[in-house]
Amino acid sequence: MTTKRKTQIVILALSLGLSIPFSGNLFGGNSGLRLSALQAFYQEYNQDYFGNALPQDTIITVGSLGDNMGMTVLDSRNRWHITIDKYSNPIEKQAEMTLAHEMCHVKLKGTQSLTTDGVLDDHGEAFQSCMLNLAKRGAFKDLW
Ligand SMILES: [Zn+2]
Repeated sequence: MTTKRKTQIVILALSLGLSIPFSGNLFGGNSGLRLSALQAFYQEYNQDYFGNALPQDTIITVGSLGDNMGMTVLDSRNRWHITIDKYSNPIEKQAEMTLAHEMCHVKLKGTQSLTTDGVLDDHGEAFQSCMLNLAKRGAFKDLW
């Protein structure tokens, strides 16, 4: 269904006094996230800003994470999984910012602490330095 069509249905429903449960996908805001573009972004940024130090086989998925915009997990076979939340990253540029953030988590695997369920979520000094380094080198030029 097209975004325009969804919008028309919502307007019709509202004009009829119907209540519609909110959905982050109601206006098609998530349909613009292309997994292939995020995978390409990972490879490009790995090369341009991380010196190809990040694993090539990192698995990137788009999912529903609740309060988290992104999540990075190391599985039992030492393979990284990055999930981008489709609701809080409704457009590709936002998703790319989140992906860059998660890539810093992958980079800092040795100095960040893992939670008991294998999630890296440490935003300490090393993490801030990684993000600032990206910014100073122009990695966010077209993103912010
Ligand atoms: Zn984080």
